[in-house]
Amino acid sequence: MKLYAPSYYKKFKCIADKCRHSCCIGWEIDIDEFTLGKYQSAEAPYASEVLKSIEDSENPHFMLCGGGRCVHLDENNLCRIILNLGEGYLCDICREHPRFYNTVKNGMEVGLGMACEEACSIILNSDGYSEISEICELGYDEESPEFDACVPRQRLFSILSNCEKRYNERLFDIYNEFSVSPNMLGDEKTRLVLSRLEYLDSNHQKLFSCYSGALFDCDGQEKILERALAYFVYRHCSGAEDIFEFRAALGFCLICERLLASLLKNCGDAVELARIISEELEYSEDNTEAIKSEFRLSFTNP
Ligand code: SF4
Repeated sequence: MKLYAPSYYKKFKCIADKCRHSCCIGWEIDIDEFTLGKYQSAEAPYASEVLKSIEDSENPHFMLCGGGRCVHLDENNLCRIILNLGEGYLCDICREHPRFYNTVKNGMEVGLGMACEEACSIILNSDGYSEISEICELGYDEESPEFDACVPRQRLFSILSNCEKRYNERLFDIYNEFSVSPNMLGDEKTRLVLSRLEYLDSNHQKLFSCYSGALFDCDGQEKILERALAYFVYRHCSGAEDIFEFRAALGFCLICERLLASLLKNCGDAVELARIISEELEYSEDNTEAIKSEFRLSFTNP
């Protein structure tokens, strides 16, 4: 099976101690069985420190200390596991973050998640989101899905990148082509749905209350919004099992895009705002599902 990635994928390198929102703060990191075994059999002195730092529960994970910091994050925001044992001792989640994977018709796709500020900056500043090419052979196979979500996705990307039309016209064309738009839920309902989600930071709940699904003038932010929407679609629509699920996922993506547009209207750093949307909405399966299920309902009860 082949692995595919967008052209910007290879630009990513973790900025470690220069990161303002380290993924080693605020997240409980589950440790996979294979890596746990490596800690148990390692002889280096730091391996016993690592073992002591694991909370023994059904899902073994690293303890967090003050400010929700991973216990292995040092005062310079560098990982002590890498410094003492080497990168080969990172658990799957730490080694893979911020990458995500989707099984598609002709193989597997990998992308960079926008909750990581470096990945977010790359995504919002790179052209060529529709250039998805093979990066390696994985050496194993997985069952191929029957539905090929890459076909409607490619159609969507060609509408989205049509420079002969203004950005809002392209969005309008997408709404028509796929019979899904943020207005199917309406602004009031969407704000209510957003307000009821689970938040990592309660300030973001208030921040998101400015949501509007209207196609207002985006004041030179069109490229940012276009690339953000392409990212959301690449991540959430590509693994859809049928066109119904593709449209529900697209509804979620369109809400994220309009939320970013609404936040940018009030000014602010586009990378930081997109990162917040990613962290709060798409990095919580429950939140993503809550919004998608509103679209499923609106498709069946128009
Ligand atoms: S959020 Fe991204 S850049 Fe920051 S520490 Fe994590 S992987 Fe590195």
